Amino acid sequence: MIERALARDLAGVYNCGGRTSLSKYEFGVRLAQRFGLDETLIEPISIDDFAFKARRGKNLSLAVEKLQRDLGADLPSIDDSIDAFYLHDLDGLPRRIKRHNARVTAWSQTMSYGRHDVEERDVEAVVAVLCSTHLTQGPMVAKFEAAVAQRVGARFAVATSSGTSALHAACLAAGVGPGDEVITSPITFVASANCAAYCGARPVFADIDARTYNVLPAQVEKKIAERTRVVIPVHFAGQSCDMEAIGDIVRAAEKRLGRRIAIIEDACHALGSLYKGRPVGRCDFSDMAVLSFHPVKHITTGEGGMVLTNDPDLARRLRRFRSHGLTSDPGEFVHEDLAFQRRGGDGGDRRPNPWYYEQQDLGYNYRITDLQCALGLSQLKRLDAFRARRREIVDRYNEAFGPLAPVHIPYESADGETNFHLYVPLFDFDAMATDRARFMLELRARGIVTQVHYIPVHLQPYYRVHFGTRPGDCPAPRHTTGGACRYRCSRG
Ligand SMILES: *Cc1c(COP(=O)(O)O)cnc(C)c1O
Repeated sequence: MIERALARDLAGVYNCGGRTSLSKYEFGVRLAQRFGLDETLIEPISIDDFAFKARRGKNLSLAVEKLQRDLGADLPSIDDSIDAFYLHDLDGLPRRIKRHNARVTAWSQTMSYGRHDVEERDVEAVVAVLCSTHLTQGPMVAKFEAAVAQRVGARFAVATSSGTSALHAACLAAGVGPGDEVITSPITFVASANCAAYCGARPVFADIDARTYNVLPAQVEKKIAERTRVVIPVHFAGQSCDMEAIGDIVRAAEKRLGRRIAIIEDACHALGSLYKGRPVGRCDFSDMAVLSFHPVKHITTGEGGMVLTNDPDLARRLRRFRSHGLTSDPGEFVHEDLAFQRRGGDGGDRRPNPWYYEQQDLGYNYRITDLQCALGLSQLKRLDAFRARRREIVDRYNEAFGPLAPVHIPYESADGETNFHLYVPLFDFDAMATDRARFMLELRARGIVTQVHYIPVHLQPYYRVHFGTRPGDCPAPRHTTGGACRYRCSRG
């Protein structure tokens, strides 16, 4: 048996148990018989033949009667277990166990600032799709969309290839175009602002609250102007912005300016967070909310994103932008003469031509695959466990860092409950007689990877060159990033 295992490069333990008690010799013989090995090579021995100093009982079998009674079922006999072992060996179970073991032990000793958690169930969900008829655009996409929509309490969900493509599609659906302005946060991942630039619009940065690093409603109000088309509040590290206040400000500005201004929540950090007792993503105070399923986020699909909305018209537009601007929904067709079969009479029973589709916008291939959505569905079931684990880690960090004067632990607003996508303390490096680079390098030497969240977007060379942004645009980030080393929390 060991030679077989070595030849197949297997490692690990297969537990073969049962209700019957058996000597090792008998067990070896039955195993040999079942596997067709030479049983005459097995010789009986007794521990009496070894002059052990310590006394050891001969029968070490466990009594299983109580366990069987509690389970209300009999354990298998040893022969049943050996049969199962044989069948598992035939159908490749040891190889599968090996593969999963290899995956688990592949992690290096360094503690990265975020890491996904994929387990057997997730792997099997993806493999099932691989063996099915659809790799993309099959049933899993709609299932995943429905599951996330239900989880957060939104009416519609449109899954896309990434959080970035979801942000772009959301801006397009909101009608952002050249000459428009889009207000967002400077303390975010660049994608929150890039989506405006993709549409030919100008990103405008509103200053942040130095405690939460979220945009301040009053600062958003200051930046609303004649050309403002969209506001994109970013829920930094998972903690919701003050959406009710932002909603009030935007509605008031709409009245003043006499046109619509959409609100798109960048909720890429915030799946599982609550705002005023309700899940982020419900869009109670916004038109759309965007999620990302990149592996550092709460649940993953590899790459992937989603737009949530309660507006059926936005949902339709998002689906079109996701797929080349195409539609095959008869209710949306514009060229009626081409779209429908000619019939005599009043045309009350018009049937669409079976080949017909229409391109109505310039869309993209921003589709997500069934493989990815199968992973997402499986991961979504684990969201609460992921959240609980992060909370445990955060509590430990708070306990450890809370008493240290030069470290400010993350502020948690009473308005919400954050999922802690990131754990971001603020360090006073002067008081620590070091600087950010030295501190990060020393941590890295100890196997702990940290990152700064974030370098303000308006200070990036691209933004300075193309949009003329300057440090003075948002003074608060300069204060908070001068010495901040944002230290991210991982589940592991
Ligand atoms: C991750 C992230 C994105 C982009 O998501 P991708 O899926 O990586 O494209 C956008 N905004 C924020 C705030 C993010 O953290």
